Amino acid sequence: MIKTDALVIGAGPVGLFAVHQLGIIGLKAEVIDNLDKAGGQCIELYPDKPIYDIPAIPECTGETLTKSLIEQIKPFRANIHLGERVQEIKKENNSWKITTNKNKVFISPNIIIAAGVGSFEPRKFSVIGAEKFENKGVHYSIKDKKLFEKKRVCIFGGGDSALDWAIELSKIAEVTLIHRRNEFRGAQHSTDLVKKLEKENKIKIKTPFQIDSVNGKDKVTSIIIKGDDEKKEEIKTDFVLGFFGLIMKLGPIAEWGLNLDKKTIPVNTENFQTNKEGIFAIGDICSYPGKLKLILSGFHEGALAARACFKLARPNEKYRFEFTTTSKSMQKRLGVKKK
Ligand SMILES: Cc1cc2nc3c(=O)[nH]c(=O)nc-3n(C[C@H](O)[C@H](O)[C@H](O)COP(=O)(O)OP(=O)(O)OC[C@H]3O[C@@H](n4cnc5c(N)ncnc54)[C@H](O)[C@@H]3O)c2cc1C
Repeated sequence: MIKTDALVIGAGPVGLFAVHQLGIIGLKAEVIDNLDKAGGQCIELYPDKPIYDIPAIPECTGETLTKSLIEQIKPFRANIHLGERVQEIKKENNSWKITTNKNKVFISPNIIIAAGVGSFEPRKFSVIGAEKFENKGVHYSIKDKKLFEKKRVCIFGGGDSALDWAIELSKIAEVTLIHRRNEFRGAQHSTDLVKKLEKENKIKIKTPFQIDSVNGKDKVTSIIIKGDDEKKEEIKTDFVLGFFGLIMKLGPIAEWGLNLDKKTIPVNTENFQTNKEGIFAIGDICSYPGKLKLILSGFHEGALAARACFKLARPNEKYRFEFTTTSKSMQKRLGVKKK
């Protein structure tokens, strides 16, 4: 069980900056994100795209912004628990008990929901055998490509991820790339390279085909694919990889008794608290009149929510407003060395 002053749900740009705002006023934070990396939409949807409206940064990419935010919160040593979804929250005494889908338990007087558009989850195969072998032969992301060394791998999808992994894995594995259309959606140079590798017998391509079933007893041994004419074909394989993009699900958040407005959480703009004491919502997930779904708005929302967290985490202390420029205690927390 991990005790903290504030639990932040979501390691997108807004959740990360909230850690900073909590940290400078002396509050400890733990962060949880469903994805395998921090950065939210910036890292998952547009890592290479330039952003031009972060205050005082004329231009940065989704990836460089994320790196800078992570650097900025380093002094506070917040743990970022990746690859875990917050599943359940419950009031216990004066605190919240938060449980993840991996059964990690946190106790905190404050929860800051910075969950953006909900948790990103991969679109999955909905055929016989796919669920049974999930993460044991059927995968939707790759953590360590060594797993596929010298194996037979069937890759499904027509976008950049499917093409990039087909190219990469063709160097170490026997790859079959399968797509339901004849045309690929990914970058032209990747499509050209995949076709070139096919000519060189380094990749097999099967289009237009869809998956029909995943078969095997203790492990995946083959799949059945189906053409547009319903004709079926069996392919012997060790692994099945699906790259069909991500879906955004509000997921368990919808079951926590919070007021919801469509897929957003209405908040009081004085402190970004929801209808439940000690639960705040900031960033894309919160709504109020005039809300702008911009990173800069989320930063401001996090600053106010963090100050409100102070009252519940330190009920016997008085919060004092200070500037980082002149506050010795803030500078100490930031690890600023005396000049
Ligand atoms: C293509 C594109 C371009 C954009 N360009 C700009 C721009 O130029 N300027 C700008 O200001 N904004 C831009 N935006 C919008 C900006 O990316 C969002 O406003 C910003 O990402 C919101 O940050 P957030 O931290 O609130 O949420 P997100 O970035 O969505 O992060 C939320 C995180 O919460 C996690 N999460 C959700 N539910 C759970 C759960 N139950 N358990 C654990 N984790 C959970 C998710 O996995 C996700 O990582 C752009 C968006 C897109 C798609």
